[in-house]
Amino acid sequence: TSDTKHFLLEKKDVKAILKPRNKFDHKGNNGKALLIAGSYGKMGAAILAARAAMRTGLGLLTTHVPSACLTIIQNSAPESMASVDGHEHYFTTTPSCEDIDAVGVGPGIGLHNETKRAFEKLLQQSKKPLVVDADAITLLANHPSLLLLLPPQSILTPHPGEFRRLVGDWANDFDRLEKQKNFSKQIGGIVVLKGAHTSITSPNGKVYFNSSGNPGMATAGSGDVLTGMIMSLLAQGYKPLDAAIVGVFLHGWAGDLAVRKMGEISLIASDIIDFIPPAYHDLR
Ligand code: AMP
Ligand code: MG
Repeated sequence: TSDTKHFLLEKKDVKAILKPRNKFDHKGNNGKALLIAGSYGKMGAAILAARAAMRTGLGLLTTHVPSACLTIIQNSAPESMASVDGHEHYFTTTPSCEDIDAVGVGPGIGLHNETKRAFEKLLQQSKKPLVVDADAITLLANHPSLLLLLPPQSILTPHPGEFRRLVGDWANDFDRLEKQKNFSKQIGGIVVLKGAHTSITSPNGKVYFNSSGNPGMATAGSGDVLTGMIMSLLAQGYKPLDAAIVGVFLHGWAGDLAVRKMGEISLIASDIIDFIPPAYHDLR
């Protein structure tokens, strides 16, 4: 019916959105993304998001890292260029977003006051929607005035703990969903509330529940992989809601393929990245 507002995301829905590559594509038109992630001792978050972004089909990636972490990212994500921060250990200087199709920010960046200021500058200068995750969400929660600077159609990917920081506690699942819908409206953006049944809300009140994924994915770094994937799709020209839908489903599907080989107990976030290629293959 025309007032249908709740959808279950399945393989066929994602298949219908996926775009093929064209014969004359070159790296410059497969999307240029800027990833701001990691800090001293938390570079795994940046590496996972960077690798996931490339496996999801990105043309060109620049990862912005603290200066002491340059070698780490260059060694572990050789497909990515690096932009070097003025600080040794965390994000303090905002890189230029000129000529960038999509920005992903947050995994492992920490909560320093200088990081908050650099994030604020990023929001002020970026005109396109961003993917905001992890510590960047906590910064938004700690400094609600930053919410006003979010470009419309930005994508926030909180886990329940981060979402609670943004909107306060909820009484039950229905109340939580109401809060998620209201928050999407308030920011004019997309909220991906992660969990066993990840829900995606858009400002027009639509809700999408994901059907892929498994408990083996409840492990460190799993969310950082998702951030890289959604940023990658956004840079490749998917509309923000489509980028969130494809990213969330593909991430869960890759996890479902990974769990068959690695098992629920042993599965780690890197395995999800390794299974993005066969997951894409299944969706063709
Ligand atoms: P984060 O907490 O930021 O690392 O994100 C965790 C990621 O793993 C999200 O994409 C969740 O949807 C996914 N995840 C966590 N637990 C489960 C679960 N029990 N079933 C399916 N997916 C899960
Ligand atoms: Mg996370």
